[in-house]
Amino acid sequence: MILVTGGAGFIGTNFVLNWFNQSDEGIINLDYLTYAGNLENLISLKGDKRHIFTKGSICNTTLLTNLLTKFEPRAIVNFAAESHVDRSIKEPDKFIQTNIVGTFQLLEATRTYWNKLENNRKKDFRFLHISTDEVYGSLSCKESAFNETNRYKPNSPYSASKAAGDHLIRAYHKTYGLPVLTTNCSNNYGPFQFPEKLIPLIIINALSNKPLPIYGDGQQIRDWLYVKDHCDAICRTLEAGTPGETYNIGGWNEKTNINIVHIICSILDELSPHINGKKYEEQITFIADRPGHDRRYAINSNKIKRDLGWEPKETFETGIYKTVKWYLKNKSWLENIKSGAYRT
Ligand code: NAD
Repeated sequence: MILVTGGAGFIGTNFVLNWFNQSDEGIINLDYLTYAGNLENLISLKGDKRHIFTKGSICNTTLLTNLLTKFEPRAIVNFAAESHVDRSIKEPDKFIQTNIVGTFQLLEATRTYWNKLENNRKKDFRFLHISTDEVYGSLSCKESAFNETNRYKPNSPYSASKAAGDHLIRAYHKTYGLPVLTTNCSNNYGPFQFPEKLIPLIIINALSNKPLPIYGDGQQIRDWLYVKDHCDAICRTLEAGTPGETYNIGGWNEKTNINIVHIICSILDELSPHINGKKYEEQITFIADRPGHDRRYAINSNKIKRDLGWEPKETFETGIYKTVKWYLKNKSWLENIKSGAYRT
């Protein structure tokens, strides 16, 4: 059995569903169901005994201790986080609580639990912390992609809180010997992403005939990874990663934001054309840039390829096509978020 936190969010959901496609090992899924958690994502697991869902926070030490004592997981995968940069600018407190204090509480409860395990189980136990490329700060166009030795230079309250969490993870390995692993991944996209993030936002606004908002000049560059590829990388790291190591995970797909929006518009023109013949890109609208907006992120994934044999299977072109098709097929999922019905 493994404990997954944040398994009703975007990547956590994909991880849980992907896991059960390949394994019958059970998952205890601990999620606080903030606005970003959506139990509808996991509806296909209703009645499935392999999946045990618990609503609760990683900040709740008593709950964590009870879960660890009761289920005795062999590993923990920590996805739980506040994850949206814009929200971190408006309301940084929640980011400090979950991403820093929550990570600390989870580490403390895990340390107590892990210390009591007998030798073999103690040696084989793993704590995998999911982090982001944003901890490394921003790159100019000429700089090399981030590797695992880059200095941390976070620029937003989100990335600073994730960086602080990563430092705690590292310290628990160095100080207490806790067998931790950290992965720092680039921008994910795919099914079940909350429509405040660029790709689902553009799809939902396009289909609703609303403006497609682009920050600043739209020339910000991100590396994009299809979420299933990320989930496979996490499984591989859990299986074969060396405790104490960090692994960068990316898709080798650097794209400007404006380019992403044009690609989505052209797929929508093909799969769901406007009745009046209008092109979706006519809805593009430039808006004031985000404060402190990082210009470029790029990830060098050579280490995980060399040491663990992982590399992405999807190109951006294949992944984005699947993604747009998924949102077109699951309009009611989007509608339930728009109306707020997903909260009930
Ligand atoms: P998300 O916002 O979609 O999901 C986060 C989940 O965590 C939600 O289900 C939410 O209810 C839950 N949660 C929030 N606070 C909690 C708490 N205190 N206790 C328990 N659960 C809580 O985020 P995501 O995009 O799925 O990201 C998952 C992880 O991956 C995060 O740690 C994020 O920093 C990291 N990451 C995301 C991306 C990306 O592109 N989305 C890229 C790299 C890394």
